[in-house]
Amino acid sequence: MINLILFGPPGSGKGTQAAKLVEKYHLLHISTGDLFRYEMGNDTPLGKKAKSYIEKGELVPDEVTVGMLRNKVEANPDAAGFIFDGFPRTIPQAEALDELMAEKGSRISALLMLDVPDEELVKRLLERGKTSGRKDDTDESIIRNRIEVYKSETAPVFDYYQAKDKAEKVYGLGSIEEIFERLCNRIDALVA
Ligand code: UDP
Ligand code: MG
Repeated sequence: MINLILFGPPGSGKGTQAAKLVEKYHLLHISTGDLFRYEMGNDTPLGKKAKSYIEKGELVPDEVTVGMLRNKVEANPDAAGFIFDGFPRTIPQAEALDELMAEKGSRISALLMLDVPDEELVKRLLERGKTSGRKDDTDESIIRNRIEVYKSETAPVFDYYQAKDKAEKVYGLGSIEEIFERLCNRIDALVA
């Protein structure tokens, strides 16, 4: 089983690259952000709860996110492996994920971080906001808050996996194809 964490700040290209990786490696893509947007779109209790945080660019509380993630993993017992996109976003979430993988007799293979400068992130997200229909992509102050939350709460997750010798940085500027190739090179080295 290959279980990858696709990591990086908002706008670093996780969703774009995950879609390409899924096609090549036949892994199951789990984006907690997409799951929250689905719940919000259907106005479920979970969606209502998540909405208040997401619209401010804050993190949904760990227990809510971890519960949702666990359900999704458990609903797919036959998956060849997973690509976690946008999760874990805090150290407690990383600990919960490691525990969940261990329960399944599996583990995280690697965390790949897409490394992109802040100003490029803001530019990409504002551009995406023109068509994504996402409120959190249209307001520059919310975007900057998301980047700050990433730095304070999420970036330590990189160090957490680095201590386990599982974290790698991939340069995230260039064409989508170039970045994809960089990621594939790392993944192929894992399975070789
Ligand atoms: N979010 C969260 N926990 C998650 C995933 C998403 O709290 O595990 C919230 C958070 O408010 C974040 C927003 O959902 O800013 C959008 O997340 P997504 O991963 O879709 O955004 P991206 O970082 O890919 O732009
Ligand atoms: Mg995303």
